[in-house]
Amino acid sequence: MPRPIIARTHPEAVRHNLGLVKQTAPHSRVWAVVKANAYGHGIERIYPALAQADGIALLDLDEAVRVRELGWTKPILLLEGVFEPIDVEVADSHHLSVAVHCDEQLQLLESAKLRQPIDVMLKMNSGMNRLGFRPHAFRRAWERASALPSIRSVGLMSHFANADDGAIDWQLDQFDAVTQDIPGEQSLSNSAGVLWHPRAHRDWVRPGTILYGASPTGATRHVAGFGLRAAMTLTSRVIGVQTLMPQETVGYGRTYQTSHPMRIGVVACGYADGYPRHARTGTPIAVDGVRTRVVGRVSMDMLTVDLTPCPQATIGSSVELWGDRVKVDDVAEASGTIGYELMCALARRVPVEVASGVTTAERSRLAECVTTL
Ligand SMILES: *Cc1c(COP(=O)(O)O)cnc(C)c1O
Repeated sequence: MPRPIIARTHPEAVRHNLGLVKQTAPHSRVWAVVKANAYGHGIERIYPALAQADGIALLDLDEAVRVRELGWTKPILLLEGVFEPIDVEVADSHHLSVAVHCDEQLQLLESAKLRQPIDVMLKMNSGMNRLGFRPHAFRRAWERASALPSIRSVGLMSHFANADDGAIDWQLDQFDAVTQDIPGEQSLSNSAGVLWHPRAHRDWVRPGTILYGASPTGATRHVAGFGLRAAMTLTSRVIGVQTLMPQETVGYGRTYQTSHPMRIGVVACGYADGYPRHARTGTPIAVDGVRTRVVGRVSMDMLTVDLTPCPQATIGSSVELWGDRVKVDDVAEASGTIGYELMCALARRVPVEVASGVTTAERSRLAECVTTL
């Protein structure tokens, strides 16, 4: 028997969340962001749920090729563009669109011999100060890009530093001032922009985390009203039970001490599975469907839970680490991080299966995909 831990992905939830994005930004097309192997869910597993997206955005060339090979015929955008001449060849042969954020990338496109001209999204650094042309250099870059025969269309993109907690106007005003007489499709909004900044929806939105049901802020309460559904459920089982007396301690470092007699469940899940070691005593978890809390320090392969709210729980009881009942955002918040990191950090040793609830057509599509995993 393998260890009882398993992650289940829910393509239906992604389809539902994508529908919410389209309702929320009804005049925009949607780049579904599937970087980092669909935020840890597996591109091949999530792919069937993205049929209604208008494009797929990611940044790993291999992932882009995988998406093409799955049969995706709509646009694919490389969010960080190309790094070397060979990348331009792959982009050309697989019809990939590329972000262009610096002169060196323009240079790569200038020197490339393409079979057909490529679509680019020219990126402005409007204040994030990560990638992009500074506003004063943007027009010059646009002129250079527009003049290139190897480029078919030039879209305009930027990225917000804090769309998740309010202020984007300082960046948006900067972007609009520079681009007011520059033609081209615009794309500005990540998940937070989709949810909270209709002014920034523009031609294409670029949601990632909300497609998977997690909050851009890392706090469930901020997305509570939107009806997002979790695209991943991580479950395991209780493999041991200890009945402790008052003033006994649990686990490494003896960080948790009982104040009354208490049953402790030992769960087959630890930081080597991707569960955060920094999860504090009190981090939510569900045993036999009842919410309770992690107590003591998370170890490599196990963690310990308070069984007081679920006295019937015993060895073999099911445990939800995160999913619909326990939000990944709440686990993240109790661990000093965001849901993004937990989803992406699911360890390779955790088996992943696609949950039922998919249509027959999807099932056969998935059966094909499984061979490529
Ligand atoms: C990751 C990423 C996104 C998606 O961000 P979320 O916060 O997950 O919605 C959008 N645009 C760019 C450029 C990105 O790198």
